[in-house]
Amino acid sequence: MPVKLNVGQKIQLKKNHACGGNTFTVMRAGMDFRLQCDTCKAQIWLSRPDLEKRLKKILDEA
Ligand SMILES: [Zn+2]
Repeated sequence: MPVKLNVGQKIQLKKNHACGGNTFTVMRAGMDFRLQCDTCKAQIWLSRPDLEKRLKKILDEA
């Protein structure tokens, strides 16, 4: 089942960000995902397969 994510949702990844934070906000969803680290505000791009591999938990289901 493909993961369904909407812009604005908060997610948790299996691996913490380099800054130690582990919650991210979805900034863009599509073929690729742009996530913003809630702790340091850095933005990262992940392809859909990468995101599905790394996703641990969706924190607020819309
Ligand atoms: Zn960070």
